[in-house]
Amino acid sequence: MAAQVVVVGAGVYGAAVASELARRGARVTVVDSGAPAGGTSGATFSWTNSNGKEPRPYHDLSVAAMEAHRKLAAAVPGSDWYHEGGNLEWAADAAELEQLRRKVESVTGYGYGARWLTRAEALRLEPDVNPDALPGDGIAYFPDEGWIEPARMIGHLLAGPGVDRVWNDAVTGLDVAGSRVRAVRLASGRALPADAVVNCAGPEAAGVAALAGLDLPMRNTRGVLIHTSPVAVAVGRVIHAPHVHLRPDGAGRLLLHTHEVDGAVRVSDSGETSVDAAAVDEVVTAGRALYPGLAAASVESVRVGVRPIPGDGLPVLGRAERLPNFHFAVSHSGATLSVHAGALVAAEALGEDHSAELSAFRFERF
Ligand SMILES: Cc1cc2nc3c(=O)[nH]c(=O)nc-3n(C[C@H](O)[C@H](O)[C@H](O)COP(=O)(O)OP(=O)(O)OC[C@H]3O[C@@H](n4cnc5c(N)ncnc54)[C@H](O)[C@@H]3O)c2cc1C
Repeated sequence: MAAQVVVVGAGVYGAAVASELARRGARVTVVDSGAPAGGTSGATFSWTNSNGKEPRPYHDLSVAAMEAHRKLAAAVPGSDWYHEGGNLEWAADAAELEQLRRKVESVTGYGYGARWLTRAEALRLEPDVNPDALPGDGIAYFPDEGWIEPARMIGHLLAGPGVDRVWNDAVTGLDVAGSRVRAVRLASGRALPADAVVNCAGPEAAGVAALAGLDLPMRNTRGVLIHTSPVAVAVGRVIHAPHVHLRPDGAGRLLLHTHEVDGAVRVSDSGETSVDAAAVDEVVTAGRALYPGLAAASVESVRVGVRPIPGDGLPVLGRAERLPNFHFAVSHSGATLSVHAGALVAAEALGEDHSAELSAFRFERF
């Protein structure tokens, strides 16, 4: 009889794991305490890359994941969530330029696509950029990078046959007996029998692991995403400029971010988040200095996402040794990694061993 697998969480990881499990013939139930794509996958910059991902196994996993996105998008007629326009990045000063040089040297040493452009070459790619905002040279171009629209991709992955969906019902307990999880308990009182469970709970993954008696250290951080109104500015790719990172966001909108604005998140005593408006203005001003046409855009929404970051920064993937039918698919950079890493985790949940790809990412390293 087909294995019954419960996937906890319907973000990019849960959707990727569920889709691969169903493709392999398992009976899958995906449970989310809210709506699909309602967690971090709905508030992310979602740049697909292996841009400075160290150590080498993390780089290799990310490169394989970029290829998996390419293949998935090519295999689905009308797929519209994957955009591979490349990434441009340049530095604010000599110290940053030195860091960028080291990164380019390191990734090209791994055989990864990266090259240097002059201002004129960059303007051929991004003709709406203010030329005065670009350095004369020293602009790094990573042609194989891109970005995804996570909600579109999640919608596609969860739509296939063989996936039962349970929304607005949290996983609140796991029945464990004889070193195996037997059932998953939900807030509604339902109990779902399980041959295997996959923890795809993103920033809440430590809480779900604790239900199995496993201690997963996490050091989540908050990040700010600024979505503009639709605007007729030609932005064709991911841009990492000093003081503003941006990319297209569908239907003419742009998405702006910087690490500087992340410090402007405030959390009230009741747990409500807000973002300092002056800090948002600074990012928008930097965006307008770079693309003057952005003056015609307004800020439509500001979202705060929580990065799910395991204690040492690296992904946690695959089975737990102590509880071999309990599996993890938890990481930052999940927009990049999820389709590939999720498929490996799904295969392990059905009995295959993927230690060759996953040994650097096992839970037991903590
Ligand atoms: C500001 C920011 C920028 C980012 N930029 C990038 C980037 O450029 N490139 C990149 O690759 N990645 C990026 N990331 C990271 C990436 O977005 C995440 O790694 C990814 O979205 C995580 O997906 P997930 O499926 O693990 O988690 P989520 O999308 O959070 O999904 C987890 C789901 O689990 C559910 N859940 C939690 N607890 C329970 C429970 N007890 N019962 C049932 N359901 C539960 C939640 O409701 C949620 O829907 C960024 C993140 C942020 C915040």
